[in-house]
Amino acid sequence: MATQIHEATQARAVEATQQAAEEIISYDPATGAEVGRVPVNSAEEVARAVERARAAQGAWGALSYAERGRVVLRARALVLDEMDAIAELISRESGKPSTEALMMELVPTLDLMQFFARRAGRWLRPEKINIGQYGLMGRSSHIAYKPLGVVGIISPWNFPWAIPLGEVVMALMAGNAVVLKPSELTPLVGVKIGEVFRRANLPDGLLTIVTGDGATGAALVEAGADKIMFTGSVATGRRVAEAAARKLIPCVLELGGKDPMIVFEDANLEAAAQAAVWGAFANAGQACASVERCYVQERIAEQFTARVVELTGALRQDVGTREGADIGAMSSARQREIVESHVRDAVERGARVLAGGGRGGDERGSFYQPTVVDKVDHTMELMREETFGPVLPLMTFRTEDEAIERANDSPYGLTASVWTRDIRRGERVAARLEAGTVMVNEVLYTHGITQTPWGGVKLSGIGRTHGRAGLLELVSAQHIHVNRLARLHDLWWFNYTPRAAALFRGFARRFTTGSVLQTSLLVPQMLRRLSERSGNKKS
Ligand code: NDP
Repeated sequence: MATQIHEATQARAVEATQQAAEEIISYDPATGAEVGRVPVNSAEEVARAVERARAAQGAWGALSYAERGRVVLRARALVLDEMDAIAELISRESGKPSTEALMMELVPTLDLMQFFARRAGRWLRPEKINIGQYGLMGRSSHIAYKPLGVVGIISPWNFPWAIPLGEVVMALMAGNAVVLKPSELTPLVGVKIGEVFRRANLPDGLLTIVTGDGATGAALVEAGADKIMFTGSVATGRRVAEAAARKLIPCVLELGGKDPMIVFEDANLEAAAQAAVWGAFANAGQACASVERCYVQERIAEQFTARVVELTGALRQDVGTREGADIGAMSSARQREIVESHVRDAVERGARVLAGGGRGGDERGSFYQPTVVDKVDHTMELMREETFGPVLPLMTFRTEDEAIERANDSPYGLTASVWTRDIRRGERVAARLEAGTVMVNEVLYTHGITQTPWGGVKLSGIGRTHGRAGLLELVSAQHIHVNRLARLHDLWWFNYTPRAAALFRGFARRFTTGSVLQTSLLVPQMLRRLSERSGNKKS
């Protein structure tokens, strides 16, 4: 009975609870304490937010990049002023240590804000295109990057500040208006993003935070934004993509991962062991780019494993707002159940738990101990499905080919990590790994590098965020083509006479070689065709 009451209290405490479909109560998953409440926005309210955004976007899109950048920099100054309070809010809503929120959420976004405020204009400058021999005919082409209009952002709970804020800044800098739907587990962090921009004097309607659950996210897709930036699970991503496809709205999907780390015997073992522990357990393993599988070359496996277990044992798990906490609570009891079921399945199939393996920390919170497991294989859920928790499974390999084959044996392809002192080998292996990002002698952190693209292959997603590739997702590329010799009519216009057909054959044989010399052999035919066409015009 006591257990039942505990479970019920915990379920109530750690999940964001929907009250009579009108408001969401956000709880601290580490303590069960209420953090705050937000309304559940109806589909009509979401549609109105999109309409308001569309009305506001025209004037915003007409501003210069420098003017938009000034608003972003004002918002950045507010974030900097309040960074400790924001880190604490993130910690209370998501369970992660506030120190980690500072490093993994605030630092990258402060960098991203200054970077895109200053760089977006340069990256989106009109771009001349070399059109080959058409250029010799007095024509030119360039690309003008135009705002899309309204961008809908749907974001998850695991990095409730860094993921949506980065996309909001990039979308605004590109001249768009934004409607953001944060996860129901972390709505107050989303609301805080809206508040910061309001205080930075972003004009009304340009950024609206709509709160609610999955239905609110679905309503945002239905409301007819011009693009959806979705970050979340594969299952929801599929639903979003299907709904967007019905409306022919493009979407970027940043989905799950099962990211491998390969440790070769020549790696710096101490660095690799520390990296594996941080890469697997930071954010309680709830990062899409967490180390979810670690493959260690046989000769060093014993030594590496012993060090990983030792480092894991030294980690301090506690309520995230307490000083010295390395690992906080998981963000929800539901997520912890997934982790428990993966570990249980692995143990039933012969895996060995070397550290952790159970619930930890404060009884009231959804803590799961940092856990190291070996004797795993690819039949286990733990090695196939995204665990999204603090579990580090270790498996050995003999050869480079075997390591690559194991790493690639996954439906996911977000990031991967290779550890070796031989950088040439690192890059050679990286080139053969199926992942959107491969790090050599690094783990997990490149989402924090604002200049580099972020996104996956296979089930890990479609499209990119961050970097120039990410910025280009938020604009439409308009091709502008100019003919400065309009008085010379085109040779391919009507009428299709036998002389025209002969010239077109010549084009097929010579012009399409790309050689100016070959094309020049067509000049007499071209002149005849020109005079034929001007004869047509006269008649
Ligand atoms: P979910 O897919 O459950 O939710 C993501 C967002 O979608 C939430 O805001 C959710 O709202 C909303 N949503 C739910 N149903 C719908 C719907 N039918 N239509 C539109 N929106 C909907 O993911 P989680 O929040 O659980 O996040 C964890 C997942 O995110 C992991 O798989 C992780 O790997 C992935 N992820 C990927 C990243 C990447 O860059 N590739 C980065 C970070 C996370 P609500 O929460 O209110 O239900």
